Amino acid sequence: MARDTGSQCKMCRREGQKLFLKGERCFTDKCAIERRNYPPGDHGRGRQKQSEYRVQLREKQKARRYYGVLEKQFRSYYAKASRQEGVTGENLLRLLEARFDNVLVRLGFAGSRRQARQLIRHGHWTVNGRRVDIPSYQVREGDVIAIKAGSPSEPTIRTATELTSAVPAWLQADHDGLTAKVLRAPERGEIAAPVQEQLIVELYSK
Ligand code: SF4
Repeated sequence: MARDTGSQCKMCRREGQKLFLKGERCFTDKCAIERRNYPPGDHGRGRQKQSEYRVQLREKQKARRYYGVLEKQFRSYYAKASRQEGVTGENLLRLLEARFDNVLVRLGFAGSRRQARQLIRHGHWTVNGRRVDIPSYQVREGDVIAIKAGSPSEPTIRTATELTSAVPAWLQADHDGLTAKVLRAPERGEIAAPVQEQLIVELYSK
């Protein structure tokens, strides 16, 4: 399965802000944004030309990297969002936010989306009692998420729960039992992604 294996800290440096891609390390002074907050590469500290296209492109790249989605997959999320009723940009964020790997991070069951994807692919999670090993699985209202009985990853998952201070209101988590429920779809105001979705819509509407 295709995936982005590039340096995650370089992605944050390219976007000029913390995208919290590495779990615990992101909250320490080892974070590359704390140490070298300029774009990677030989010309990273040079002046960057800010065209309208560049701003829109960077916003799309930031969203893609934040959710850990490849270009082709991101395009298909956008196509789906534009076919849905309502505001395309918000639909797009809602689709990305409802990915199973993202939901595990929001619930505090994984320190990062990359870790969540690994746990899912290795079959450590169930939805409504059935094993789901597809990180892009879209959770729906009423879905019950639970760790697979006897999973050897339980200590890792419990450590991740200690990093989480709050779970968004559209989800309900039981950190002791390592189970959760999807109460409803997220509202835009509940999606904490540092993304201006309108810029992405402008980019794809050209
Ligand atoms: Fe980004 Fe985390 Fe690396 Fe900091 S430590 S640059 S927030 S991935």
